[in-house]
Amino acid sequence: MSPSLQNRGACAYCGREMTRGWMARHLRTCEKRLAAQTEADRTRRRKQTLYHLQVEDAWSSYYWLQLEMRGEATLERLDSYLRDIWLECCGHLSQFEIGGVYYTQIMDDGLDFRDEKGMDVPVGELFTPGMEIPYEYDFGTTTELLIKVMDQRVGRPTTSHPIVLMARNNFEPPSCMECDKPATQLCNECMYEREDRRGELCDEHAEEHEHEDYLLPIVNSPRVGQCGYAGPAEPPY
Ligand SMILES: [Zn+2]
Ligand SMILES: [Zn+2]
Ligand SMILES: [Zn+2]
Ligand SMILES: [Zn+2]
Repeated sequence: MSPSLQNRGACAYCGREMTRGWMARHLRTCEKRLAAQTEADRTRRRKQTLYHLQVEDAWSSYYWLQLEMRGEATLERLDSYLRDIWLECCGHLSQFEIGGVYYTQIMDDGLDFRDEKGMDVPVGELFTPGMEIPYEYDFGTTTELLIKVMDQRVGRPTTSHPIVLMARNNFEPPSCMECDKPATQLCNECMYEREDRRGELCDEHAEEHEHEDYLLPIVNSPRVGQCGYAGPAEPPY
């Protein structure tokens, strides 16, 4: 798939639309967000370090998320959030790489060829602003993400959840390879066979397409077209 470079998204607090880089900056000064923080300070939620994370597709600037995460929440929470919003297809393994250590689903297979730990670690013990954390989902057909720790603040969380979605890229479906209408399905067989690596199809052309067993829905996720990923690419909360 060849998504356009259009990568704007809307601020969840004030609704303003902008590109990824502007959004990361905007969130520091968004008045509606600051008001939400003041509001949160009146709650009894535990005061802690909160991290502003930018999650992006390692290979394209098209897909991105801006999150705020509680320092007391574990890497496992972040892993499950990323699976829900972007990745989960068949329960593959995943890993974060931080300071030469791989945080992953530990299996006691007796093979200690690298430094592995479980994901049950509060991110507050690991994250510092400026850190860039490579993340992989599925070690076969891998989706690679990069998690950037943009900022931290001390305060009370603005919601009752460990992670808050502050912004994500808008979704502009690519155009159908047959007719240029917005595509809804991707043909894995065409992507594999065709020289131009295209496989996008609109509803109409998907209907009459010869490889009906290879069609997967196109949704707002960098995992589209990989393994059996079928979305829905919605946040869990
Ligand atoms: Zn805003
Ligand atoms: Zn899979
Ligand atoms: Zn079409
Ligand atoms: Zn096809």
